[in-house]
Amino acid sequence: MRSQRLIQTLGLAGKPDLTILSKLEVSRVPVCKACGEEVDELVSVKVDGKRKKLCEDCAEEIRAGQAVAEESEAVIQNMMGFRGRR
Ligand SMILES: [Zn+2]
Repeated sequence: MRSQRLIQTLGLAGKPDLTILSKLEVSRVPVCKACGEEVDELVSVKVDGKRKKLCEDCAEEIRAGQAVAEESEAVIQNMMGFRGRR
């Protein structure tokens, strides 16, 4: 029903252009900036101070990576502090 209206609006009735229709369909689907996957919902994640719209999977991956980076930094600081006190 929707595409029927779309065809009329675009004046394509009579010669439906499927490539144009599929392009319109694609543009309505959010695409992850990292992996290029089409997803239902994008999650905005802060990466290096910039907000990025990513899919759930990529957002999860980046969050995990950031957590690891913070953790290892803390470990290094602890080691240095430990050595410094000796
Ligand atoms: Zn992704």
